[in-house]
Amino acid sequence: MRQPTGLGGLGKAALVRAAMFRRPFWERKTLTEMDRDEWEALCDGCGKCCLVKLQDADLPVNTPEVDYTDVACRLLDCEACRCTDYPNRREKVPDCVVLSPDNIAMLKWMPASCAYRRLSEGRGLPDWHPLITGDPESVHRARISVRGRVVPEGEVDDEDLPDHIVDWPR
Ligand code: SF4
Ligand code: SF4
Repeated sequence: MRQPTGLGGLGKAALVRAAMFRRPFWERKTLTEMDRDEWEALCDGCGKCCLVKLQDADLPVNTPEVDYTDVACRLLDCEACRCTDYPNRREKVPDCVVLSPDNIAMLKWMPASCAYRRLSEGRGLPDWHPLITGDPESVHRARISVRGRVVPEGEVDDEDLPDHIVDWPR
């Protein structure tokens, strides 16, 4: 009979490697290492960053001192909590901010629940995130999304926006 110690060592090493391969991309990769599909998949679909926000005109554009409103961008589908023209959003809404690994850490006004902000701060994904649950509805069940809580931009006059300031999207 041959001595089994070598096989035992190989088996253990193989198990360690298998465990490493099972780790999901958001745990294995930095934001800058992710490909486009991985980056896009990180969005939990909450829609909170698509709410109209108010800020003092004298403050820089990336100031954390913004007030969220419960008024949704005109391109947001308030039920699905998704942009209705994502590929052309910048042409239609010039102040729509395009997130990237280079700017996410500077955008301090992004909601604390946002997957991009969470990963950039080393906080990982929450248990309600669709990538964890495998169910896009989980973000709505957890009451993280804007579904049922917002009104479309076209229904609110600009001078009435201060009346719509809310804390819950933060
Ligand atoms: S706040 Fe973050 S996770 Fe939510 S819709 Fe915006 S980009 Fe996606
Ligand atoms: S244009 Fe689309 S992605 Fe940009 S804020 Fe509006 S709904 Fe959101």
